[in-house]
Amino acid sequence: MIKNLISPFQKVLLGRRLCVGCTQPLDKAKKLGSLSTTKEVIECRCKRRYIYDLELNSFRRASFDEEKLFFMNKKQ
Ligand SMILES: [Zn+2]
Repeated sequence: MIKNLISPFQKVLLGRRLCVGCTQPLDKAKKLGSLSTTKEVIECRCKRRYIYDLELNSFRRASFDEEKLFFMNKKQ
């Protein structure tokens, strides 16, 4: 199986800090909380989730494992 989930088009949108699904600015998206000291989980209004990296000052799609980790930590 080829793991090529991020298309070049999605990379361009993320580079412009826009949601790849609905193209809303991710800077205005809802902050769900921190995943670590340098990573925040962001949820767009279309329910797509992203990781905001404070060190890189950039957004990327949240992986399934990261979402799982975040919601597991949140329950505690
Ligand atoms: Zn969106």
